[in-house]
Amino acid sequence: MIFAHGLGGRDLTLKLLSSLDWQQKGFQIGCRVEHLQEWVDRRQYRIAPRPGCLGAAEYHLAMKSRGEAAGSGVTTFCMCPGGEVVPATAWTGQLSSNGMSLRARDGRYANAAVITTLPPETFSGPGQAYEFLRELEARCFAAGGGDYAFPAQSIESFLRRRTALEQPEASPRLGIRPAPLFELLPPAAARRFAEAFRYFEHLMPGFRTGNAIGIESCVSSPVRFTRHPETLETSVKHVYVAGEGAGYAGGIVSAAVDGLRIAEKLLAATP
Ligand SMILES: Cc1cc2nc3c(=O)[nH]c(=O)nc-3n(C[C@H](O)[C@H](O)[C@H](O)COP(=O)(O)OP(=O)(O)OC[C@H]3O[C@@H](n4cnc5c(N)ncnc54)[C@H](O)[C@@H]3O)c2cc1C
Repeated sequence: MIFAHGLGGRDLTLKLLSSLDWQQKGFQIGCRVEHLQEWVDRRQYRIAPRPGCLGAAEYHLAMKSRGEAAGSGVTTFCMCPGGEVVPATAWTGQLSSNGMSLRARDGRYANAAVITTLPPETFSGPGQAYEFLRELEARCFAAGGGDYAFPAQSIESFLRRRTALEQPEASPRLGIRPAPLFELLPPAAARRFAEAFRYFEHLMPGFRTGNAIGIESCVSSPVRFTRHPETLETSVKHVYVAGEGAGYAGGIVSAAVDGLRIAEKLLAATP
């Protein structure tokens, strides 16, 4: 039997915890940042307008941990050139951000998640970690007005601890509403993001002219189901957990490869 329920199958994960061996692991939270793609192109290519032979420019920014607990650095993730910020939730009354680009990557905006890792010892167990995520997503939903619009503020106002939204135009199709994201996030994480935004401004001048949008909470799993090193079975024979929900993958390719590895093991074990 294979369970491949992704990060959206939280109820199933909680049920499986009572039957299978598992380890608690760190996971990431954050928000999206969005800029005009034209600004990213100008920063990266140093020419404007971008010639047609060049694709929409990308970036990857990281700030290493500075003296705090290991894993507490901040990084951009899932950068979507010419893309849009989309609501991604499996639960009524909860809201989490994600990002996507169409193949042409020719949209007006560029977005990326900005994330930090919460180490496993932050929570007493997976139940508390999932409750934390549920509350965070419910706060995000409420702060956006309860209709799947995203709470948002300019990065500048995040740094000044104000709620202003100087650029109310943004990619989310259901809209954005001004809200203090720094109050939605746990205080230590909000401080880390503020520090990172200043650093990113140093790396890419103009970074703070963008918007911070939504809460990113579906990046990786708070638990990992332990596996037999050879057969990849869980602690129960013939039971496999594959993909992102297993805690070994993050993203389309790694989840798919994990599923393929498990399928191969299962076929090899089938008489
Ligand atoms: C908007 C968006 C954009 C993304 N863009 C990228 C990207 O550009 N690059 C990238 O690498 N990753 C991206 N991701 C992440 C990527 O989608 C996931 O990493 C990947 O889909 C994980 O694959 P999976 O098969 O493990 O889980 P999933 O694709 O989540 O599949 C799990 C399936 O199990 C089902 N399920 C859950 N619980 C149960 C249950 N109890 N019973 C029965 N079925 C259940 C779900 O409905 C779902 O169909 C994006 C995600 C979103 C939401």
